[in-house]
Amino acid sequence: MYSDIGQDIFHEHPCLNKAAARWFGRIHLPVAPECNIRCRYCTRVYDCANENRPGVTSRIIGPGEALQLVTEVVERDRRIRVVGIAGPGDPLANAETFETLGLIHERFPHLIKCLSTNGLLLEESLPRLKAVGVKAVTVTVNAVCVAVGTYIYDHVCYWGEVYRGRFGVELLLRAQQAGIRKAVAMGMMVKINTVYIPGVNDRHLTDIARATRAAGAQIMNVMPLIPQGEFAELPHPDREQIRLARRNLARIIGQIDHCRQCRSDAVGMLC
Ligand code: SF4
Ligand code: SF4
Repeated sequence: MYSDIGQDIFHEHPCLNKAAARWFGRIHLPVAPECNIRCRYCTRVYDCANENRPGVTSRIIGPGEALQLVTEVVERDRRIRVVGIAGPGDPLANAETFETLGLIHERFPHLIKCLSTNGLLLEESLPRLKAVGVKAVTVTVNAVCVAVGTYIYDHVCYWGEVYRGRFGVELLLRAQQAGIRKAVAMGMMVKINTVYIPGVNDRHLTDIARATRAAGAQIMNVMPLIPQGEFAELPHPDREQIRLARRNLARIIGQIDHCRQCRSDAVGMLC
């Protein structure tokens, strides 16, 4: 199922390969506070020490501190194989992301560099990402049709202009598909994150899987909604709903079932 993923990445990336998660770890660097869209389920709290979910970090660090942190952690724990940037905002909306990855790549060329993004700026960022050694990207795709997307996204901010409603959603969805296609064409491994949002996109997951697979994405990670923000009143999908969704979607695109929905400053092994 993962035959077209670069073997070096597949063997050592704990998020892509459950077996690798037993032996290898990752470090997330919280260098990216800004975001350029607003998802209705998002709440970003920067100084939270005891909450475990995406978008949370104890604090924001700069590129120099990130390099120092990676140096210390890699020295202490040789199992760390992946350096990732996963927020707390959108990594591509922050210049610090590129500076940080450049520093890390120069010092640790053997470590896998990856990041997660909403995809708005992916296509235009790819040459810079390649230059700083990024080989794997995760794109969060929660809809491939504008009607569903308008329930999920409040607005999109593209180079200083704010686009609301369907204009913003159209822009975002087009950018995601174009970014995925180009990243794959440039030899990157592309994983799709999809938040399972009951009553909003749960009947749309097959379309998302088909469209992203057609664009070249190799694997998909269906994550249960954490009810918060404007979606605080929606139910939290139960394990059986997620299991069934993954089982159905696996016929279209390979599925991940061991994601921990980590914080933006997570360090170490997944388990
Ligand atoms: Fe929050 Fe990520 Fe959505 Fe930005 S892209 S609003 S950080 S969930
Ligand atoms: Fe891996 Fe999921 Fe954690 Fe990201 S959130 S580092 S994909 S386990």
